[in-house]
Amino acid sequence: MSDYTFFLILLITSAVFGTTMGAYFCTMQYRIRENLPLVTSDCICPACGHRLLLLHQIPVISFFLLKGKCRFCHTPISPHYPLTEAAFLVYYTFTYCIFRRYPVIFLLLWYFFIVGLLIRTKNSRHLRRLLNGLWIVTIYHTIIGVLYAVLYLAVYGSLFPK
Ligand SMILES: [Zn+2]
Repeated sequence: MSDYTFFLILLITSAVFGTTMGAYFCTMQYRIRENLPLVTSDCICPACGHRLLLLHQIPVISFFLLKGKCRFCHTPISPHYPLTEAAFLVYYTFTYCIFRRYPVIFLLLWYFFIVGLLIRTKNSRHLRRLLNGLWIVTIYHTIIGVLYAVLYLAVYGSLFPK
């Protein structure tokens, strides 16, 4: 695999992972505030309670597909969601591009970014939910970290390629 192909694959992976974390971050913020379980198979509209389809949960894209409104009750969706998802996408891809020769650095920057933002949503009444949220993002970032480490070792034979 050429260096450029490897770069493109990881660039796309970083963008998808980043925007997915952005979407999940919005969900976690909401569920920590409302003291709701963080892990659930149902994703619902907070206004009408209708279960959302997978098509309505694609970060950034769904907001435009739905023209900024719930498909079922037509309640406007806050632009906070697509903006947060886009900000995560930009942050994750940029840090990857800048530090791609030092995967440990961009992986730590990703992790501390989301942890820092989550801690800012602190709500002492729902501390247990917040700790659950931190635990979940730790698991996700550990999984992606191991995946990147394996790919770097397979392609470059090192975690610190020249
Ligand atoms: Zn709705």
